[in-house]
Amino acid sequence: MENFIPDIYQKNIYDIDYSKLKKMGIKCLLFDLDNTLVPVKTDAPTKKVKELFLFLEQDFKLIILSNSNRKRLIPFKEGLNVDVAASAHKPFKKKYLKIMELYKFKEHQIAAIGDQLLTDIYGANKVGITSILINPIGEYEKIWTKINRFFEGFVYRKLKRKNILIKGKYYE
Ligand SMILES: [Mg+2]
Repeated sequence: MENFIPDIYQKNIYDIDYSKLKKMGIKCLLFDLDNTLVPVKTDAPTKKVKELFLFLEQDFKLIILSNSNRKRLIPFKEGLNVDVAASAHKPFKKKYLKIMELYKFKEHQIAAIGDQLLTDIYGANKVGITSILINPIGEYEKIWTKINRFFEGFVYRKLKRKNILIKGKYYE
């Protein structure tokens, strides 16, 4: 159960205290795409995301780590001028480890941000990097996400009963 608990929980990507992450020694941010940066049916970065990335790239290496395919990621790679890792198969460790090897970052230098406990948070915790949960920004979800959400419901209820993680109760 422990691996489903995010280190940090915030409402959205704009509410995260990035200066605190910097002070913690974080040098690389892995962003989930769907319902984290933009809704699932938005096919290019918004102005707001672009502005955030321009600000963050001064302090962090930014990478989009997504279970979506390469075709979906191309407009984001080009529009945000960042590296992307497509078909990441989160929560499996392989892509995280590949990124660490490729970019020469250690576990304590990376934070992953996403909207799903079963993929984004579980994956990050398993490899020992900082995990940051945000609320999904869109209503629409793909079939696999819907299936994940069903199981995620059990996890949320269990963590809520133990007073560990409650939706809308944010923490750093
Ligand atoms: Mg997502």
